[in-house]
Amino acid sequence: MIIKGVRGKIIKDSRKESTIEVFIETDVGKFSASAPNGKSKGKHEAKPYVKSIQKDIESLEKISDYFSDEHIEKFSDLRRIEDVVRGHIGANTLFALESGVLKALSKEQKKEIWQLINPGAKKFPRFVGNAVGGGLHSEVPKKPDFQEFLLIPNTNSPLENRKINLEAKEKLKQYLKEKDLKFAEKKNDENAWVTSLNEKEVLDVLTRLNIQIGIDVASSTFYKRKKYHYKNPPLDRTPEEQMMYLKNLIKNYSIFYIEDPFDEEDFESFAKLLKTNSESLIVGDDLTVTNYKRLEKAIEMNSINAIIIKPNQNGSLIEVSRVIELAKKKGIKTIFSHRSGETKESILADLAFGFGADFIKCGITGEERKVKIDRLVEIEKKFK
Ligand code: PEP
Ligand code: MG
Repeated sequence: MIIKGVRGKIIKDSRKESTIEVFIETDVGKFSASAPNGKSKGKHEAKPYVKSIQKDIESLEKISDYFSDEHIEKFSDLRRIEDVVRGHIGANTLFALESGVLKALSKEQKKEIWQLINPGAKKFPRFVGNAVGGGLHSEVPKKPDFQEFLLIPNTNSPLENRKINLEAKEKLKQYLKEKDLKFAEKKNDENAWVTSLNEKEVLDVLTRLNIQIGIDVASSTFYKRKKYHYKNPPLDRTPEEQMMYLKNLIKNYSIFYIEDPFDEEDFESFAKLLKTNSESLIVGDDLTVTNYKRLEKAIEMNSINAIIIKPNQNGSLIEVSRVIELAKKKGIKTIFSHRSGETKESILADLAFGFGADFIKCGITGEERKVKIDRLVEIEKKFK
């Protein structure tokens, strides 16, 4: 397949913030793909753009002709694309570009995108659905300090996952109404319920659902000067106190999944928690930022047993595949994840299935989340 030209355009994500869509013209047609935006970003994520979206778009235009020298026939040929663009564009632009190339390749080879990654893929990821939100993702004065309260149905069928989480989210609306007098049926950045309850109160409500519970503490967002600064209720916790608090929550609420329990530089505290709580998933997101070296460090220090994979934290899908390979080799569970500012791009579903992810975190409702969920259901149908 020959790429005849590429160009970029600014579009809005679900939060109405600017992001990039990349258009590709090949000898088999025209394709486009877009990248999402994070808000509670890890300090060590790759930069989304070299200088700005506009500058990345101009750079793409300048190098557009160089792509035609490259024959792209398989997933690993993305490396050639990366050689052409190195230093010219940021992670968001690269992810959108490579996604567009995979779409073109899938058309040319009459294969599904996931088949380009692994034609023998057959395991579906379990869903990790954001049901109630707080932290940086909910713009109200009183809210839980934790960023996400997640529902993780115990099934690998996307159809069942979708059904269970949709029903649970509706039930939650009722339960929250009963418990939170300020509840206004509002949804946050990821379409999760906005509440004025604190995390313990939310967890009390969630236990009524009888679905495995996860939390994304996103603790770097409220860690400053060696303390975790809680607001609801106001309380500063040292890392040791944070450890005690989280261990109690895990025990009292049987928490199955806990993401970024400690600051993004604190590999040691992650390791201490994992040592006593290896039954739960101790998940790195801001800690590991889909970066090979940071995953290596997390493995060396025994910090995590699960890792969030956000393709645009890295940009290069070749690197993403190396990160996954290393995680799998070391028995670390993989969770493909959306960003809080999403687009109607569904490729995350193909990537998660193709790479054999254990979980996918892509919300429960909202058009931008639904396209990814529905795509997994569509893939599942082909196996029936
Ligand atoms: C997350 O922290 O898991 C997340 C989705 O946040 P964001 O996309 O805002 O970085
Ligand atoms: Mg996170």
